[in-house]
Order: sequence, then structure tokens, then C-alpha cells
Amino acid sequence: MFSYDVRGIKIDSADFWLDARRKVAFSFVSHGHSDHLKNHDIILATPPTIQFHAWRARQKKAIPLNLREQHEINDAIIELFSAGHILGSAMCRVTVNDISLLYTGDFKMKKSWTAEDIDIPHADILIMESTFGSPEYVYDHSPDFLQEELAGFVEECFRTGITPVVMGYALGKAQEAMKMLGDAGYNVRVHRAAWELAKIYMQFGIEFANCTPWKDEPVAADEILLIPPHSLYFKKVKNMPLRYRTVFLSGWANGPNGNRFGADYTIPISDHADFNELLDFVHQVNPHKVYTTHGFEHFPHHLRALGYDAELLTA
Ligand SMILES: [Zn+2]
Repeated sequence: MFSYDVRGIKIDSADFWLDARRKVAFSFVSHGHSDHLKNHDIILATPPTIQFHAWRARQKKAIPLNLREQHEINDAIIELFSAGHILGSAMCRVTVNDISLLYTGDFKMKKSWTAEDIDIPHADILIMESTFGSPEYVYDHSPDFLQEELAGFVEECFRTGITPVVMGYALGKAQEAMKMLGDAGYNVRVHRAAWELAKIYMQFGIEFANCTPWKDEPVAADEILLIPPHSLYFKKVKNMPLRYRTVFLSGWANGPNGNRFGADYTIPISDHADFNELLDFVHQVNPHKVYTTHGFEHFPHHLRALGYDAELLTA
């Protein structure tokens, strides 16, 4: 039904790729993160993903497919289901001759502030990510708990006359922080890259209260600065006459490289399923066969211990 090589996964009968890693004629794109954006001739994706793709990769030809709608290519039926990872992120189910294959891309099980809830369908064959496929990556904290932790960091900064600098990736994490902090009444100044992407969220009905773009000017005493975790932006912050403290929002916070940007503080706000949720996800899909893609190579061992027929997908 499918083949796999350095370019990625291809549904043979439809000549249709799933998140192809190199330029191909026709590929599904699971979401807007840049590691998934290549200038394929034609892409199939949800409308938000097409917008992110157009903004970042200047993609021209795209077939939009809404969640839970169907598209046919030769004998293959294509359907998309929400992956809960960032706005517009989708999993792709392909059915050929009554055999279904679900390809996940990145996904998240917990509720998000700005992405659609995950929607998990059944499939016979599952090809899944396993980013946090190791038992040390378990995050039990609820979204509300994490929001309170972030607000606590901000309050402590303000109490001591320090500017809180929140670091989160420009697409996904930044908009989560905008929503969590802005809705709680804090004034958030947002770095340009994250702001431009937030405008696409706004087009799809996500509202951000109390957030304004930051254009390198000094920030007021009651404002939070939100920047991507990149040394370039750090330099600008360092050059400002400002006492500041940084917090990095990352699902890697529990691991050995959790604080790779040297932030003063980390909060494990993740846009991926944790280890237990990966197992729960497989249980819900209830497949006959599981292949894992990027992530921990030993994750299939954990699945086999639970009785699944699982292996790492290798070329
Ligand atoms: Zn991603």
C-alpha cells in the first residue's frame, strides 16, 4: 500500500506523499512548522496549513481539505483529522481497498488554547511520530496549571520591577502564550515573526486580547515581551536598558537538553503527546500494525511489550 525511502512515505496507487521530506509532485502537509514545508508542486492540507505554508514557503498550488471531509485520488480515499498540535494541524487517513492507513505527523492529546482538539479515528495501519516516546517524558500538568505557573512567573517579575521575557517558537508556542497571558489580562508585546503568524490565527477566528506587535522599542513596566528562542532576538533584549528574566516554554523541559537556550526558568508547555499519551493514542486507533517515525528509536519496544506489532520505519 505504501513505500518508504529518503523522500518519505508514499501511497503507491495514488502517487501521493505524506509530509515528503524532499520536493515531490504531490504531498500531504500535516502542519505549518517549517520542517514540514518544502516547495512541492502541489500540496494537500487544511486551509490554515496552506496559509502558513504560503507565508513561509511561497507555495502556490494547494488543494484545501477540511477536517473530516473526503478527497479521492485514483482508488484512494483521503480524509484529514485534527492532530491538536497547532492550528490546522492534521493527521491523514488513506483508505485503499478497505484497508486504512493513518499517518499522524506531530500530534498533541491535551487541550490546547489555540489548536483544534485532537480527533482520533480507527485505522488498520498506523504510522506515528514518537517525539516524546521515552518514559521520562510524562507531563501530568493540566493546561490550567501551566497557565497559572506562567502567570506566577510574570507576577513575580512585576513584583520585583523586572520585565518578564517569554520565549516560545514563533508558530504554535508563541500563540499559545499570547492566548494564555492576554486572556488573563496581561499586556503582551509580540515579536514580529510570531505576530505575522498570529494574524493567520486571527483569520481563522482565534482572538488575542491585550497583544500588540513589538518593534524593538523599550517596553513599559507592565508589559511582557514575547520572543522566539533565538540569539538574534536575545541580543536586542540585552541591548535595551532593561532588567529582565527569561522563561522558555518547551516540552523538552524534563529532558537533558531542556534548557538549551539558557533561560532563567522553563515551563513544560508542550505541543506534542507525552509518553503515556502516545501509548493511549495507539490504544484508541487500535491498529493491526504500527510504524514509528521520528522520535525515540526504542519506542516500538514499549509498544511490543503491550502486545502491538510495532517497528521503526526505516528506508
Ligand atoms: Zn510540529
